[in-house]
Amino acid sequence: METLRKLEILSAAAKYDVSCSSSGSNRQSSKGLGNAYRAGICHSWSEDGRCISLLKVLFTNYCIYDCIYCANRKGNDIQRASFTPEELIDLTVSFYRRNYIEGLFLSSAVMKSPDFTMEMLLRVVRKLRIEGGFNGYIHLKAIPGADKSLIYAAGLYVDRMSMNIELPSEKSLSLLASDKDYVGIVNNIAFIGDRVASHRAERKKSIKAPSFVPAGQSTQLIVGASPESDLQILRQSEVFYRNYDMKRVYYSAYCHVNQDSRLPALTKPPLRREHRLYQADWLLRYYGFTAEEILKDSDPYLDEELDPKVTWALRNPHLFPVEVNRADYDTLLRVPGIGIKSAKRIILARRFSSLSPESLRRLGVVMKRARYFILCGGKLCLQEHERKGDFKASLNQTRDMSDSVKPLSLF
Ligand code: SF4
Repeated sequence: METLRKLEILSAAAKYDVSCSSSGSNRQSSKGLGNAYRAGICHSWSEDGRCISLLKVLFTNYCIYDCIYCANRKGNDIQRASFTPEELIDLTVSFYRRNYIEGLFLSSAVMKSPDFTMEMLLRVVRKLRIEGGFNGYIHLKAIPGADKSLIYAAGLYVDRMSMNIELPSEKSLSLLASDKDYVGIVNNIAFIGDRVASHRAERKKSIKAPSFVPAGQSTQLIVGASPESDLQILRQSEVFYRNYDMKRVYYSAYCHVNQDSRLPALTKPPLRREHRLYQADWLLRYYGFTAEEILKDSDPYLDEELDPKVTWALRNPHLFPVEVNRADYDTLLRVPGIGIKSAKRIILARRFSSLSPESLRRLGVVMKRARYFILCGGKLCLQEHERKGDFKASLNQTRDMSDSVKPLSLF
């Protein structure tokens, strides 16, 4: 099979992995400039925040596993292909030289055995770096079940590494992906996190110490394929962030690609739920929230109509309104409409003068939301009619106003 045909098959097979932010479009070149060829160019963000384009591809889609939710499972009758390490290296280097890409996002199905596949991936990244002199970004998916020594060796050559947990509980993983070992995957995530932290510490002592996965590790969780609640998912993510030096958990709305009675009968991927989980995840990582603060066992799902920070504020009316001219940084961060940058700007600006609604707007506060939760110089920032109106509907202007929501009044 020609390399280009393999590229078409294996980049299409990689599209369900969401750790890259966008996959290649299929706009063809007819006339004019450029050609967004559909074979696998996607975008991601490097450690320093730059948007970079990556060749996103599987090494192979031959798989010995039969994960029920996956298009590449061994039981599916699909066209299969596999690169040789040398083909993939040539492809990456030639795309890089032509300025198509700035890096490689390499994943794989499990061919022959986890160790065999991991050895192939290791060969690709090692040769790329050492023989190809390739200095571009590499994001490598480690293979579940592969030996730690192989994972460690590969981590010395790549910028970011992922080990996908896929489902938020051992029970669901054994039901839908019985070839995979939940505890083994968590152990490998812990192992990668431990090595990332120890190499980071060594690099602080000596610049000559080798780096290991310097852009950190990530994982992916499928949302909606199994019955776990949002609270269970967020608890899982919290453990990864707090204990395993996890840089990022990606949430992937479940796409119905296979027929099986063990799978939910969803007609559409639960994208709104995925979106709310990303917002809640942001609260875990940057705003000091815990999963238990965001959700309760008695109410374990995120409100799909309101963002999680607003929902938390509405559940805790005794903490509001907050006086922006006096509140400390952590309290400001919890106000809907005030982000990390605007909270810092507020702390700085109020040293010189008392803040008004207008000055808050100039500091980047989203007053559309914040005005319901703050005082400026002891005064509410709401108009008279807004104090009595349906603030929940106006907090979420995308909501269908014909919904029979009982109007609420905060103050
Ligand atoms: S290991 Fe499972 S999820 Fe990965 S490609 Fe094979 S069947 Fe799909």
